[in-house]
Amino acid sequence: MRFDVLTIFPEMFSALTGSGITRRAAETGALQLKLWNPREFTQDAYRRVDDRPFGGGPGMVMLAAPLQAALDAAAADGKRGPVLLMSPAGRPLTHRKVMQLSQLDGLTIICGRYEGIDERFIARNVDEEVSIGDFVVSGGELPAMMLMDAVVRQLPGVLNTEGSATEESFADGLLDCPQFTRPEVMDVDDASEGVPAVLMSGNHAEIAKWRREQQLIRTLSRRPELIESARAAGKLSARDEATLKRYTRDALSTKKGSA
Ligand code: SAH
Repeated sequence: MRFDVLTIFPEMFSALTGSGITRRAAETGALQLKLWNPREFTQDAYRRVDDRPFGGGPGMVMLAAPLQAALDAAAADGKRGPVLLMSPAGRPLTHRKVMQLSQLDGLTIICGRYEGIDERFIARNVDEEVSIGDFVVSGGELPAMMLMDAVVRQLPGVLNTEGSATEESFADGLLDCPQFTRPEVMDVDDASEGVPAVLMSGNHAEIAKWRREQQLIRTLSRRPELIESARAAGKLSARDEATLKRYTRDALSTKKGSA
């Protein structure tokens, strides 16, 4: 998948291409990254990419012209897919959106800086604004890298183990279950630090059942609204519902018992 990214800090993207899964994806070509720096498309001696906001106020605003020239260069080079702007005013990114984006053969991403971008550039060029959450960071680069990482790991062949991406949080609308690895006992004096016995049983059906229950219980206690959505989407079986009921009943009876 090809990503064309407009940024005044292209060097930041070595964090994506330099380590881990995204590095391997860049090496195999699953991730193709083209970086376009608006500063290289300025016409003035100072290579200005920002100016003061009309109407006054703090901070600076990114100029439309260098961004437009950079975007036109990306287009001439064969950029693909919709143009996204990373922005706290966009729709918050979700697993569902990530899955949709991973079906595309390319994406163009604009990274803002300062107080943001001249609105006329956005109106003319941007198909969609995407946020990574209801908070503000200093630039669109980290948000863009988060989005790209999430999308790239969904591309065929990028994750080592088939199933890694389908067995993690949100894939089935629920949070992931807890995981354990060696050693089997962390602290011999503390029985609570052992590994759940079922995981050592070798019984794959029982393990799968336990994991599903853990997912349900975790999601209900930490993110109950996700249980509602999973239910509405028909993703909960009769057995799942029974697990949830049992858990709720047990929780209620513990409360009564302790009162
Ligand atoms: N003045 C703006 C914030 C600008 S922050 C406002 O209050 O809305 C500078 C840039 O960082 C933005 O243009 C955007 O590209 C990026 N950015 C900041 N927070 C973000 C978020 N939550 N999601 C996506 N991009 C964000």
